[in-house]
Amino acid sequence: MESRVSPQAPGAHLPDHPDFLWRNPEPKGSYDVVIIGGGGHGLATAHYLVKNHGITNVAVLEKGWLAGGNMARNTTLIRSNYLWDESAAIYEHSLKLWEGLEDDLGYPIMFSQRGVLNLAHSLQDVRDSVRRVEANVLNGIDAEWLEPDEVKKLCPIVNISPDVRYPVIGGTLQRRGGIAKHDYVAWAFARKADEMGVDLIQNCEVSGFDLDGDRVRGVHTNRGLIAANKVALCAAGHSTVLADMIGLDLPIQSHPLQALVSELLEPVLNCVVMSNAVHVYVSQAHKGELVLGAGIDPYNSYAQRGSPHVIESQLAAACELFPIFSRAHVLRTWAGIVDVSPDASPILGLTPIENLFINCGWGTGGFKATPGAGWLYAHTIAHGEPHPLNLPFALDRFASGALIDEHGAAGVAH
Ligand SMILES: Cc1cc2nc3c(=O)[nH]c(=O)nc-3n(C[C@H](O)[C@H](O)[C@H](O)COP(=O)(O)OP(=O)(O)OC[C@H]3O[C@@H](n4cnc5c(N)ncnc54)[C@H](O)[C@@H]3O)c2cc1C
Repeated sequence: MESRVSPQAPGAHLPDHPDFLWRNPEPKGSYDVVIIGGGGHGLATAHYLVKNHGITNVAVLEKGWLAGGNMARNTTLIRSNYLWDESAAIYEHSLKLWEGLEDDLGYPIMFSQRGVLNLAHSLQDVRDSVRRVEANVLNGIDAEWLEPDEVKKLCPIVNISPDVRYPVIGGTLQRRGGIAKHDYVAWAFARKADEMGVDLIQNCEVSGFDLDGDRVRGVHTNRGLIAANKVALCAAGHSTVLADMIGLDLPIQSHPLQALVSELLEPVLNCVVMSNAVHVYVSQAHKGELVLGAGIDPYNSYAQRGSPHVIESQLAAACELFPIFSRAHVLRTWAGIVDVSPDASPILGLTPIENLFINCGWGTGGFKATPGAGWLYAHTIAHGEPHPLNLPFALDRFASGALIDEHGAAGVAH
């Protein structure tokens, strides 16, 4: 069956298949590069392998449908205001790519730089936030500290009353942060990669690896053996399942992460607001829904659903910060499975197995990294060695101890 596409996506269909954005090819017997996982990162990697390195004999293998994992389940927040130099550099690289992505892909992705506001509710929040603003500024990343009245001016519906459980005592703002339309982003990358000859193969589950000693030379799938010079893992919440098949022990825990949307509303929220203390973050989608996310469900799971009590506290937090939301109705809730690493930073680079590459551990915050991670992963695969920007994010940092602890900047993450 051919892939379905959104009827709203303008002027972007295949010339000889006006209803479809990409072909639906049968897998070939072999490829130069096989990417496992047709989420945003897998698709972006394919795009940059072609665009930046001229490698076109590439397949993206997806066990379900393209973007059926976290890619089209996330809350689409984009920012680069992380604390440490390594993180600031990798996320800012991605943000700069977002700023030119619509032109690069020739497809509307509704990237909206409406500003991301992180609220502070305690003295410790203030200290951490101001430190992060200063670190960001030193790294050339736009960041501002706002006093409560400035928070209110920027986002009039936030409750800054001192009489609540966690009063707002300030906030940080990254004006270049914002949101994009996640499914359009996936389709844009998919369409472009397909156009350049990449085979996007849906309903193709990888079930094992073909090894020659310590060297990978292909993958076993429900559609047969596919040989590959290089294999790139890009399976987010299922990274450990795949790594287990090849005896690779990853320091990754898979957790459900839930989100929800309200019914469609008139514009009420003009920026993204996040609060680590009450644990909620919210934006208003272009269409009008309030899009809310929370922290992870605290247990391991591969089921794409979560527990109601997490939603309940997320909504309580939202109503505390935005009393006006108590009049809105929840339309639907869902979950994805996120791959959480011990230092809240990703793993992007080589593995101990020759020709096997890894991209995982983005946890609750990998949507914003989609173009940047794809760009760097493509570089790493093409050259057989990491780019300086992803060198610090190697798997062996968990043995060397050179961790990049972003639990603060990734508190509620996203
Ligand atoms: C509710 C929620 C909210 C989020 N909010 C944000 C946010 O606001 N901002 C942000 O930056 N990030 C956010 N994230 C995180 C972000 O979505 C992920 O970090 C990112 O999408 C991961 O990369 P991906 O898109 O490639 O993953 P995925 O889309 O999950 O892609 C992995 C793919 O691998 C496939 N796969 C798995 N196993 C196999 C196999 N054996 N064979 C073949 N294919 C396989 C899966 O089916 C899946 O399609 C959120 C995540 C969730 C769940």
